[in-house]
Amino acid sequence: MARLIIMGPPGVGKGTQAEYLARHFSIPAISTGDLFRGHVRNKTELGAEASGYMDHGEFVPDHVTTDMLRQRLEDNDADAGFLLDGYPRTVIQIGALDEMLAAKGRALGAVLALTAPDGELVARMLRRAKEQGRADDTESVIQRRLELYRDETQPVLTAYSHRGILVTIDGSGDRESITAAAIAAVEGALAA
Ligand code: ADP
Repeated sequence: MARLIIMGPPGVGKGTQAEYLARHFSIPAISTGDLFRGHVRNKTELGAEASGYMDHGEFVPDHVTTDMLRQRLEDNDADAGFLLDGYPRTVIQIGALDEMLAAKGRALGAVLALTAPDGELVARMLRRAKEQGRADDTESVIQRRLELYRDETQPVLTAYSHRGILVTIDGSGDRESITAAAIAAVEGALAA
């Protein structure tokens, strides 16, 4: 049973790789960004609260995000393990996730980080903006998301690295070889 996290800057392809990894490990991919976008689409109260932050590239407040994730992890499919995409994004959220897992007597298996140069990330997101029209894929919002990643989320990577469960792979290149490298890296970490 695998309990995994996939991390990386906006535009690195986390969502795409998460789908393939989740399928390989037979676990659900749980993306906080997708959960929020679902709420926005369905016009829920939570969606109304989150969209103001998302549209500006800001983080939704920790307690809102954490409550939403805690609820999602109660669903039966997460008993078999999970791949988190987009959480934790702050050092505070690491502690919240630790508590959620400890309450169930569970531990994290591995954290996979994807990397790519900022220039490539921006180009990919601007391309995605044309294809998918995501409200937060505009140039100024993209810059803010990259900045928050550097300031708030890099320290999360550092923390997991100190725990010895972080593996990092290059996220530029073709989709299949990145998936293959990701699977190999995670399996290596789980076996260690
Ligand atoms: P990105 O491409 O920036 O990685 P995501 O789809 O993961 O985008 O998230 C989109 C937005 O949802 C974020 O910019 C943020 O507003 C919100 N969000 C997602 N996960 C979190 C989180 N763990 N904490 C706070 N806000 C979050």
